[in-house]
Amino acid sequence: MRDGKLLTFIKSLNQLINELATEEIIFVKGKQLLEQLIQNDDWLPEELCKPHPEHYQQYLLYADPLDRFSVVSFVWGPGQKTPIHNHTVWGMVGQLRGQEKETQYHLQKDGSYQAGEESIFLPGQVARVSPSTHDIHVVANNLSDKPSISIHVYGGNIGRIQRAVFHPETGLEKPFISGYANAFVPNLWH
Ligand code: FE
Repeated sequence: MRDGKLLTFIKSLNQLINELATEEIIFVKGKQLLEQLIQNDDWLPEELCKPHPEHYQQYLLYADPLDRFSVVSFVWGPGQKTPIHNHTVWGMVGQLRGQEKETQYHLQKDGSYQAGEESIFLPGQVARVSPSTHDIHVVANNLSDKPSISIHVYGGNIGRIQRAVFHPETGLEKPFISGYANAFVPNLWH
């Protein structure tokens, strides 16, 4: 039997990580793998596409047992968005369905956070975050009438990492660990 799309992606990514690929290489080769994965929108299990009425959902699709990387689906209901937050590890965000808007935030001399560059992502496109370049942003569903879904890959187990949300005016940093919305991960051999 041929491997499914998600399994194929995870195998290739695992191989890349085993080769001790640098962030720079992951952002080229890993990005190509993610682009292939999101080329089709027929593989994400229905249970992991479900929006929540009040807040966005982060479903775990796969986490490396050694915490070297993780793959999640982000599902946004109409109008939902994140607070200003960081990641602390490299990340790639591939748009699967709908549209997302990313706004980068920059720390000011007075300690506040100011909105900067804005980008809209359409299905098939990949965004990146990195602690070495830009790691603080707000992401929102850019559609007011439909859910949007993106597939994220991080250089760590994103649901277990302590990171932070930031208050825009005071810059106050609040630590958080996101966890995952699902109790079960998909069967990659189904
Ligand atoms: Fe983010």
